Amino acid sequence: MTRIAMKTPLVEMDGDEMTRIIWQLIKDELIVPFVDLKTEYYDLGLANRDATDDQVTIDSAEATKRLGVAVKCATITPNAARVEEYGLKQMWKSPNGTIRAMLDGTCFRAPICVAGIQPVVRNWERPITIARHAYGDVYKNVEIRVPGPGKVELVYTGDDGSEIRELVHEYTGAGVAQGTHNLDASIMSFAHSCFKFALDTGQDLWFSTKDTISKTYDHRFKDIFAEVFEAEYAARFEKAGIEYFYTLIDDAVARVMKAKGGFIWACKNYDGDVMSDMISSAFGSLAMMTSVLVSPTGVYEYEAAHGTVQRHYYKHLAGESTSTNSVATIFAWTGALRKRGELDGIDELVSFAGKLERATLATIEAGEMTGDLARITTLPNPHTLTTEDFIKAVAGRLAQVA
Ligand code: NAP
Ligand code: MG
Repeated sequence: MTRIAMKTPLVEMDGDEMTRIIWQLIKDELIVPFVDLKTEYYDLGLANRDATDDQVTIDSAEATKRLGVAVKCATITPNAARVEEYGLKQMWKSPNGTIRAMLDGTCFRAPICVAGIQPVVRNWERPITIARHAYGDVYKNVEIRVPGPGKVELVYTGDDGSEIRELVHEYTGAGVAQGTHNLDASIMSFAHSCFKFALDTGQDLWFSTKDTISKTYDHRFKDIFAEVFEAEYAARFEKAGIEYFYTLIDDAVARVMKAKGGFIWACKNYDGDVMSDMISSAFGSLAMMTSVLVSPTGVYEYEAAHGTVQRHYYKHLAGESTSTNSVATIFAWTGALRKRGELDGIDELVSFAGKLERATLATIEAGEMTGDLARITTLPNPHTLTTEDFIKAVAGRLAQVA
């Protein structure tokens, strides 16, 4: 059988622990037999990040800007315990944080829906995608603990010497205060990424903030989205038969619970962080959630939403068998291969991505799945497979359809 040829290489970002093991299995069993895989390989495993003083992370993000599509394995974000475990030179920053900052992206997270794994919310029939702004707000805040009576002010000093001063609070006793910020340019990038993604996937876009309370800060988000939409996207949305609307976050939450799904919900940084965990758990499992970072210039980085599954890795190292779910990592690969196929006009690659996704879901629907799903499925008599055997079962089905 001839393998599918590629033109432009994918940026391949390898990672850590159990997901690194899964990474290799997916390539060997599910991709290389069918695709003449071309990648530019970057080893983001913690040992190599340490050896390169984290330069490899920066290089991989630069390569993504140059080549346009990346696929990333989960990576360890070091804490004090990891510094000790790996004998690190320093506590390197989160690779995802570094890559996100360099690509200025928006993170889109969507559950992978499959028969037999039912959402807790009965009326959800199709996936709900969360679009999370990945810059600023409470993630770049400045905080003080106010020791006692006194006042806290917010002061802007312009480069031209002008000044804006607002009283935050006159304290009569101890308390706390916090300053957060965002940038018009970043909010604009966020808006463009969301509108483009909605057009790309043919889904309605909802956007929510708390603008009734935050009359300047959150209102600025609402206004920028409205301006960008009217100027560049309104006509294209109409042609595509999709809708954009803004609503207060309280209203959005109520509507989401009653909706059927099949739309994108754009959220500010904190709301997106929290709501994506709520959506993924309500749809069944963190191991069934895909994630793609989309930059306003149209660069894509695909990954699984979960981490490196450390607990399973230690079992694996101890020689015990594991049952780690590889679905989100498989879908990171199919997402990247499909996008590469679309950009390079390789229809076979696009259809291969679809086949691999269908083979994966058909395996689960036939009752063959990893332990995390076997515990929650509504299918009778599920068969729990090991990490390796699940991937082999998918390979078996794929060989039949490919
Ligand atoms: P995790 O790897 O997401 O795993 C947490 C738990 O969730 C696991 O112990 C397992 O539960 C379950 N789980 C997650 N993915 C699963 C899968 N594919 N199949 C089956 N079960 C799965 O989070 P963590 O243990 O808190 O973090 C481990 C490392 O991952 C950390 O060093 C962290 O920095 C990193 N991390 C990386 C990313 C990323 O690169 N995107 C994201 C998050 C965390 P049971 O043990 O009960 O089976
Ligand atoms: Mg979170």
